[in-house]
Amino acid sequence: MKVTDHIEKAKGETLFSFEIIPPVKGKSIQELYDNIDPLMEFKPPFIDVTTSREEYVYIDRDGLFDKKLTRMRPGTLGICASITHKYNVDTVPHVLCGGFTKEETEYLLVDCHYLGIDNVMALRGDAMKEEKYFAPTNGGHRFASDLVEQINDLNKGNYLHEVIETDNCANFCVGVAGYPEKHMEAPSLKSDLKRLKQKVDLGADYVVTQMFFDNKKFFKFVDEARKMGINVPIIPGIKPIAVKRHLQLLPQVFRVDIPEDLIDAVESCKNNKEVRQVGVEWCIEQSKELKEAGVPVLHYYSMGKSDNIKAIAKKVF
Ligand code: FAD
Repeated sequence: MKVTDHIEKAKGETLFSFEIIPPVKGKSIQELYDNIDPLMEFKPPFIDVTTSREEYVYIDRDGLFDKKLTRMRPGTLGICASITHKYNVDTVPHVLCGGFTKEETEYLLVDCHYLGIDNVMALRGDAMKEEKYFAPTNGGHRFASDLVEQINDLNKGNYLHEVIETDNCANFCVGVAGYPEKHMEAPSLKSDLKRLKQKVDLGADYVVTQMFFDNKKFFKFVDEARKMGINVPIIPGIKPIAVKRHLQLLPQVFRVDIPEDLIDAVESCKNNKEVRQVGVEWCIEQSKELKEAGVPVLHYYSMGKSDNIKAIAKKVF
């Protein structure tokens, strides 16, 4: 079922969902299940599964290093299929521009369609670790809006080789990313919102936001988006701080601000156990306020760990 249909069916009640990251290749999927199991009591209608970009690894061959390009966390679609099968829940694979040609994307979407996956999250992807700026893959897309267009074309039966006659059209519900504190490369929030509007105009059905720690930023973002004519559901993505290092890491990687009160509370902790508690309590307050404001879904970045998300969900749902 489509994410937008789940939202409609909930009739204004806030739903619970979360995002997981595939394990590093060679690791068992069991750890993922162990972290999903405790969250199923909160009845997520859908679970997102991220896709990681390829990266270079260096293999030591008797002192000489071989540089190899590889994806360390493959398996997004397989994980989606196995989760749907095991838990009878919808899954949302993240589809990236970076690292994929348009043809590879089409094959992936065809697989999604055969597997009965109704939703995909269309994303550009970040620059590769070794690169300063995002560089489109040869034969791939430059912006998420191009990917949305490809998915929307496919929904009309318009494949890359331009077959339009089909007796079995895909009908993907498409999610895209939004940034309450603007995307790191955007010159202003307004110009970033214009790009978001473009994605919606090209067929995106809903927006999931980057994490934020100050709800005021989310509310302002939604206001601005509505003024600009973005009328699709906007789902807040949130994450509890879990270790002291997050105070530097999260702003550096995701370009988000951390409110002074939260910084003070984390800095006064004696150990990371205390930090986790502070992070959970902050996230509970954030969640309660967002829920009260009537957000359609609270979407948690679990980063593969469930105990803190469970502690939050218990107090909120
Ligand atoms: P875009 O919408 O293409 O925007 C990228 C930048 O280009 C923005 O600054 C935008 O303003 C600008 N822009 C857009 N269109 C144009 C245009 N036509 N001309 C000029 N500028 C333009 N990354 C992963 O690698 N894997 C994941 O699974 C993943 N999941 C994510 C889930 C969520 C909910 C979010 C918020 C992010 C996720 N990301 C993931 C990170 C995401 O890939 C990065 O933030 C990436 O840098 C931007 O992706 P985007 O889809 O927002 O790109």
